[in-house]
Amino acid sequence: MHLGEVSSWSSIQSISLMRERTLDFLWLELTNRCNLQCVHCYTDSGPHSGDRDILTIDDYVSIMVQARALGCSKMQFIGGEPQLNIDFRELLVKAKTLGFEFIEVFSNLTRLADETVQYAADNGICFATSVYSNEASGHDAITRVKSSHARTMANLKMLIGAGIETRAAIIVMDRNKDTVCQTKDFLLRLGVRHVSSGETREFGRGEQILAQKARLSGLCGHCWSGKLCIAPDGEAYPCVMARQWPVGNVLETPLAEIVRGRQLERIRQVIFDEVWLPKVAPKVRREDETLLEGSLCPPAEQTCGPDSGAPDCAPELSSPRQREVPADEPEPQPAEECPQSCTPIDESTCEPMACPQSCLPNRVE
Ligand code: SF4
Repeated sequence: MHLGEVSSWSSIQSISLMRERTLDFLWLELTNRCNLQCVHCYTDSGPHSGDRDILTIDDYVSIMVQARALGCSKMQFIGGEPQLNIDFRELLVKAKTLGFEFIEVFSNLTRLADETVQYAADNGICFATSVYSNEASGHDAITRVKSSHARTMANLKMLIGAGIETRAAIIVMDRNKDTVCQTKDFLLRLGVRHVSSGETREFGRGEQILAQKARLSGLCGHCWSGKLCIAPDGEAYPCVMARQWPVGNVLETPLAEIVRGRQLERIRQVIFDEVWLPKVAPKVRREDETLLEGSLCPPAEQTCGPDSGAPDCAPELSSPRQREVPADEPEPQPAEECPQSCTPIDESTCEPMACPQSCLPNRVE
């Protein structure tokens, strides 16, 4: 049974999917490092946060093979910034050749190699990103890296121009709440296929933003259903944000045992009962009362936070693809200098692939 099949209060009461111990969607975190330092980052990522990056390329391949053997056909590469993993492209190709039907890369898009774009275009790879404002200054204030907006927008345009499916999430906090509508319009006009907004959640640096310690009710609740996240140290969690509730480690336990294990079953049950059900039950009750047929598409404000990749539906925020960028669309402002902290004296010493900031300066001209 899937969410879309649950359309009434009676069916919700009898649901028992969480006991089926399935794996439908896999998040693979390729690093905890990131070249940005967003104020709300739920993984507490930054240029020097990779001390728990333990998994090798062989480990990641093994996890994907095991996931496919369990029938998993949807996955997302995420981080940190997943493209900072030196094996990123090889893993992307491996995911495709292993037969994953849905592959998404959740990236801040401040870097993007031409080869990646070409491969994604040829193989139906999707991209998702977070955008905090239509205005560069507002976005950069949240990422804490000057010109990150310009680079993300330039690469977003490149993906759209190549015909690649794109998705953007606007994470709402006090400092950008007044520009959410403009940002949605801006992204839809740019040609982003799916735009959603979601609240900041009390995980990682989000704890400080909200002055709230991590708690189960801070999850969106979707992860009760067949999802699993593997972090760069091998730890498995029911969701990318649910780091307080580990359910095993792939370096010690086969993936099948984790997926079918009591720990995951138990936390899925708790998330279902205490987080997901209270959020959707009133809506389903209303639909029952008015005899309306409908799916359990959750309201937009319940979409997962920053880097959730499960493609939950928020149809009201989607628009047909628009390939043409309007003539009056302001062009992203180019960086005047390397926006990162390395400021190489001459460009020949700049090694983007080795640099934790990974600014790929040649992309911004
Ligand atoms: S929210 Fe995403 S882009 Fe921002 S620092 Fe964290 S991992 Fe990087």
